Parts: sequence; C-alpha cells; structure tokens
Amino acid sequence: MNMKDDPQLRRDPVTGRWVLIAPQRAQRPINLPGHAPTHRTNGERHPCPFCPGQEADTPNEVYAVRDTGTAPDGPGWHLRIVPNMYPAVRPDVDAPAPATADLFVTAPAFGTAEVLIDCAQHYDDPTQLSDKQFADVFRAYRARMTALAADPRLAHVSVFKNVGAEAGASLGHLHSQMIATPVVPELLRTELSCAAEHFGRTGRCVFCALVRDELADGARVVARSERFVIVTAFAPRFAYEMWLLPVAHEPRYEALTDYGADELAALLKRVLVALDRVQNAPAYNWFLHTSPLRTGELPHYHWHLEVLPRTARPAGLEWGFGCHITTVAPEQAAAELRDALPKS
Ligand SMILES: [Zn+2]
Ligand SMILES: [Zn+2]
Ligand SMILES: [Zn+2]
Repeated sequence: MNMKDDPQLRRDPVTGRWVLIAPQRAQRPINLPGHAPTHRTNGERHPCPFCPGQEADTPNEVYAVRDTGTAPDGPGWHLRIVPNMYPAVRPDVDAPAPATADLFVTAPAFGTAEVLIDCAQHYDDPTQLSDKQFADVFRAYRARMTALAADPRLAHVSVFKNVGAEAGASLGHLHSQMIATPVVPELLRTELSCAAEHFGRTGRCVFCALVRDELADGARVVARSERFVIVTAFAPRFAYEMWLLPVAHEPRYEALTDYGADELAALLKRVLVALDRVQNAPAYNWFLHTSPLRTGELPHYHWHLEVLPRTARPAGLEWGFGCHITTVAPEQAAAELRDALPKS
C-alpha cells in the first residue's frame, strides 16, 4: 500500500468531529445488492400535488413568485411556498415552557413547516432549473427567513433540500423545506459553540480562517466566484461532501443580496452538474447553516451551505459512534469535480 492510501483520522476544524478517510476500503469485496450508490430515483405520486392546476391539493401559499395579475393559489406562479400538509411541527400549539430539571420533559411541537416548490415545471433535478429559477429559490429562502424572524417565539429556521428518494424526498417535483422551531437544532448549537470557542482562543472566525487556508492551498477548492467558494469538506461524512461559503465574513444568510443570490446559484449549479457527472447523479441533501434568528452580526459565525451526497450507506460505526468512514479522499474528490465542471 502506498502512503497516499493509508487511512487517516481527521478532525473537523469547526466542530471537532472526527472522521476516517479510508481509500483502501473501496476495494473491499461487496456482495450485498443495493450497497453501492446508484442513480437517484423518485418517490412519484400522480397527479403531482406540486404541479400547476393542483393548487387545491396544498394549503394556501404564504409566498410566491407569480405573473402580475394572477391570483394566489391558482396557476401563473413560478415558485410557491405553502405550509406542509404533513408537518412535523405546528404553529397552532403552545410554545414550549422554560426548561425544568425533570428527567423526562415533553413539550408541544411548536413551529412552522413550509414547503418551497422550486418551479412550475415537473422537474426532479436542480440542474434542470434555469439560472434565474435557481437564484429565485435562494431569494425565497431569504424572504421567508426574514418574515419568520418577526415571530419572537421562533429561534431558528432549518432550510434544506432532499434530492432523490434515497435522500428522503417523498415527491419528485423539486422542493425545499423550511422548518422554524423555538429551539436551535443540535448540529447548529455545536457549530455555534465550537466557533465561539475558536474565536475566544484566536480572535478569528473559524470559517474565515478556513476560507483563507483553502484558497491558499487550493487542493480542496472545487470552484469559486467573486463572493463564494465551494470546497470539499476536509473531514467529510460522505465522499464528495461539499461546503459553499461566502469568501467575506457573513454571519446571516438573510443579508444575502440579489446579485449575491444570482452568483451563488450559478456557482452551485455548475458544481452540481459536475457532481452528477462524477457520481452518476447521486441522491443528496443540501442544508443551510446560518445564525439563529435575531442574533445580530455574530463575529464568530459565518453562514454556509453544505451539500451531502449519499455516496455510501451509514452503518454501525457511523450510527453508533458518529465516526464516519469515506473511501474517497476530499482532495481526490475535488480534483474529479474540477475536471467535470461545465464551462462557465
Ligand atoms: Zn409536479
Ligand atoms: Zn467568518
Ligand atoms: Zn455547517
């Protein structure tokens, strides 16, 4: 075995999470069917409740990009946000009471769960969106987060997209989800506290430091534009895990400008085309990590978008111990993705 293939333990620079990079595991004999990542599939339903003409199948829209003169909840839209028909959290229950010392604490599942329907066309792949449609999705995230921030009971909005049934999508028609809750979810809390600790120790934002070092080194840089960079994660959970970050310090996603959304969308779309080429259109999730609502301009936290392709199936080590093994080193993944980028 050459040195390049020796397994490595790597510590995530933000959270301190440890992962294993084990390229030689890719050569192990695999006999079970369904193990290898395959081309993503859809959990399709007919008629599609997200297609134009089916507006009666969804709750009333809370936001839309529509042709002028068209009425809400009818055709003429290009993007819609509607409450989720099957919400995990609900706005019509009491907000949770303050924490107690009890061992077993329950609270009503207060919050809002919304579905953002990306486009009127029955597309199932984000790279089918035009650059304008793609940018409108990122503008709509911003608009709804800004609106939800007005409710003082809500602390955080989890924004994510599932692409492919294997990544949790139950309908093929492209959509994102926005779940606002009175609590800040665990992974965000970990990032925030680790970033605050780094700032206390060094006086610097860990994400700013990461961007600086990644741009200087270049090995994990997949693509960059004036304001954004996409890198493969230094300590990935899945092979080809990518992070999109603003190059400058930006704590709040809501501060994204319209031209920033255009630039972000064009950059991310090119990289997703490359991912589809390199990994045969894998299922993936993307999720937005940003400051909790109304926390102002944090000096230590920096919003970013993580793209997590389902390039392997988590097993006992991952579920039981939180230690991820990937078979493709992030430097190799970045080189493959750069080679597969469409011409800009
Ligand atoms: Zn549809
Ligand atoms: Zn920063
Ligand atoms: Zn993150």
